[in-house]
Amino acid sequence: MGDWEFVGCDLCGGNDSQTLFEVPCEDAPHGAAQIVECATCGLRYFSLRPSASAVIRRYPTVSAPIQADGAMPSSSEYGLFSHD
Ligand SMILES: [Zn+2]
Repeated sequence: MGDWEFVGCDLCGGNDSQTLFEVPCEDAPHGAAQIVECATCGLRYFSLRPSASAVIRRYPTVSAPIQADGAMPSSSEYGLFSHD
């Protein structure tokens, strides 16, 4: 369970949500990941979800797009929003 974390809504910061769907996932605490809907703003997202350190362990050969401390590189480092 320590590798999975509860996350609040990234849009409004709310912590009240309802489970909409369960997705079979053998790594998840009860064999399923949940897609939830925020009770405040309606955003749908995964929670619980794997922690950053668990993702890095799972994909050790990928140059880490996220750091162990959760820091994200800027999008320009990966050319995600290049329009030229
Ligand atoms: Zn919300």
